Amino acid sequence: MIDVLETAVRHAASLTVDPAAIAANIRTVRSRTRAQVMAVVKADGFGHGAVDVARAALDGGATWLGVTSLAEAVPLREAGLRAPVLSWLNPVEVDAAAVRHDVDLAVASVAHLDRIIAHGAGVRVHLHLDTGMARDGAPPADWDALCASLRRAETAGHVRVVGVMGHLACADDPADAANHAGRAAFLRGCALAKRHGLRPSLRHLAATAAALTDPASHFDLVRVGAGLVGIDPSGRTSLRPAMTLTAPVVAVREVAAGTPVGYDHTWRAPRPTTLALVPIGYADGRPRAAVPGGQVLIRGERRPIVGRMSMDQIVVDVGDAAVVPGEVVTVFGPGDAGEPTVADWARWAGTIEHEIVTAVGSPVRRMARELASW
Ligand SMILES: *Cc1c(COP(=O)(O)O)cnc(C)c1O
Repeated sequence: MIDVLETAVRHAASLTVDPAAIAANIRTVRSRTRAQVMAVVKADGFGHGAVDVARAALDGGATWLGVTSLAEAVPLREAGLRAPVLSWLNPVEVDAAAVRHDVDLAVASVAHLDRIIAHGAGVRVHLHLDTGMARDGAPPADWDALCASLRRAETAGHVRVVGVMGHLACADDPADAANHAGRAAFLRGCALAKRHGLRPSLRHLAATAAALTDPASHFDLVRVGAGLVGIDPSGRTSLRPAMTLTAPVVAVREVAAGTPVGYDHTWRAPRPTTLALVPIGYADGRPRAAVPGGQVLIRGERRPIVGRMSMDQIVVDVGDAAVVPGEVVTVFGPGDAGEPTVADWARWAGTIEHEIVTAVGSPVRRMARELASW
């Protein structure tokens, strides 16, 4: 384990990220596919720190990095990472940094292609197809014109078309009929590109769920984000959670039976008990909806969060445990010591694990960076 932010955390929440877990998750994915693996480190590596996650993933055998914007791509280059990087959600006004930093660009429109050409020669691009989400990627009606433009741009030496990418909307359920339709659409797009004389060597469609469950979607490369940090959206493969969040107890008090706790008095002590105050709340990404129901681990036991979650504090009913200020509470972790997991928090809050790690990770990292700079 590396403590990402060790010096900063005496009085604040502390986030540790386990690079060995990330490398192990990559190896699990690689055991399911012959395709290359792209480590998707968008949203600050799903809140785990993009550069740390990228390094661990490359150690585990990933060969590509993926992000949604140049703003995320450039820090990877600045950190000295030399693996190929693809960025796929650039505004049409793409800047020249892509060329300078050797970043591949996904192209979803002729207008976008024209801006890329205006910025320089030789950019590597991936034909970005909407294969059934009506989200990013070129809509099917535009594919023909986009392929024709890409071919002209390639012939003129402006770009090199090295990849074709699509995305599956319903891969979390391998039995969903939309997966077959998405693959079929992707294959139509690949065939069309070929008819236009394009020869992209990297066809990529699958993200984590399909990489783990659907070999027919793997083609040349799979793009794995959630799986890196231990989340399997299909719920079928046991991956290793990479993030642990702890916080110190800042105060302890004994209360009489009937004592109301927190805003709106939603909870009253059913018996004399001890309450521990922990300085974490919804302002730094803990989901308020996880209470009641949410728990933390303290002194080796799971204890309930009681009353409302406040903006930056929670109250934990520790019963008759002799808890003292300064003790470390585990909010979530891989579960080895019985602590709650990210999956538990997602269930309590009625959301997905992705939202828990992205919401918690970046604010805690930012706060700790600020403390460390004092
Ligand atoms: C986020 C994203 C991925 C990674 O998805 P996971 O399910 O997190 O592996 C892959 N491709 C695209 C286009 C994405 O937006």
